Amino acid sequence: MTAACPEGGLALAPYAIHAGSSRGRRYPEDPPPGRSPFQRDRDRVIHSTAFRRLEYKTQVFVNHEGDLYRTRLTHSLEVGQVARAIARQLRLDEDLVEAIALAHDLGHTPFGHAGQDALNECMAAFGGFEHNIQSLRVVDELEQRYGDFPGLNLTFETREGILKHCSKSKAAKLGDVGERFLLGTQPSLEAQVSNLADEIAYNNHDIDDGLRAGLLMLDALLDVPLYGRIFTAVKERYPRASPTVLRHETGRRLIHHLITDLVETTRQRIAAAQPASSDDVRAATSPLAAHSDAMAGEITDLKRFLYQQLYRHPRVHRQAEKAKRLVRRLFNTLLDDPRLLPGKYQRRMQVVGGDEAARARVVADYIAGMTDRFAIAEYDRLFDPHGEA
Ligand code: MG
Repeated sequence: MTAACPEGGLALAPYAIHAGSSRGRRYPEDPPPGRSPFQRDRDRVIHSTAFRRLEYKTQVFVNHEGDLYRTRLTHSLEVGQVARAIARQLRLDEDLVEAIALAHDLGHTPFGHAGQDALNECMAAFGGFEHNIQSLRVVDELEQRYGDFPGLNLTFETREGILKHCSKSKAAKLGDVGERFLLGTQPSLEAQVSNLADEIAYNNHDIDDGLRAGLLMLDALLDVPLYGRIFTAVKERYPRASPTVLRHETGRRLIHHLITDLVETTRQRIAAAQPASSDDVRAATSPLAAHSDAMAGEITDLKRFLYQQLYRHPRVHRQAEKAKRLVRRLFNTLLDDPRLLPGKYQRRMQVVGGDEAARARVVADYIAGMTDRFAIAEYDRLFDPHGEA
């Protein structure tokens, strides 16, 4: 049973997050006229500096390797698209899933996971570095645009969705959004859906980019049952189609297939658990949004294939190791001599004084905010004797 809402769309489900019962913002603000609080969150994310920087941050490939590959920005847009499609079918708040999706990678370092691993090693003695927690730092503190508060002052619900994973020791320091990791409860369905949309988006676009880059071989990919089945059906339907069309037709069907499985399985789980509110969703012993067991197994096989064939490909590995060396050297050099930092970060250093962990965090924030190309240029400025100072 679905009910029409006054605007002609579908009314939100009882288990969705309803804007009127939001747990609010860290710094209270009047409700925005003409927009829901989650629309305002989404809009604030889009206007942020960190969001624009995603255009020049690596997903899997280093940003300068080619213009056609996904960046963190196009990845985030694809996650938003997938998440909205799922949310509409489940009658969840679409603006909230989009706000979470667009913000989820704001804390990513340059050079993708290689950059984050290197920065995490550098920060080992100072509390470590996790991109999820960094995304939260970006929206809570690091963005400086408003006179009344630091950060973007997003709602609890968007912040809860951004903090996808977190260790218990770190969660204890994060206040309200960390609580669920200590209590073992669930986030909203909107957060669960955004999280799974991330996986749907990257599994698909990494295949697409990997094939186009010549790092993945189609023959090998056809042995992955989930992909092979769909590709074979496409090939039968369009026997004369070009490899490019076959790749895209397979990709769009794969996304559709994954979304449909997720929506159907989640509907079944909702029907069984009968959540009457978002509080019931949070109190459930396991997440209500999920793929079927059969599909989850197929996704695991696909991810294993991508891990072995793409993420550990010698060419990707060489770039990753180079990126790690670059990040480590930047970090150590800037921490040893903070006068090499830009003025804004030097002022933060003066404020924290002799607290070593806080000093290291200033350097980590600076490096994490860099785009791939800015990090490379900064490296040249510091170490290339022929480069500009
Ligand atoms: Mg992501």
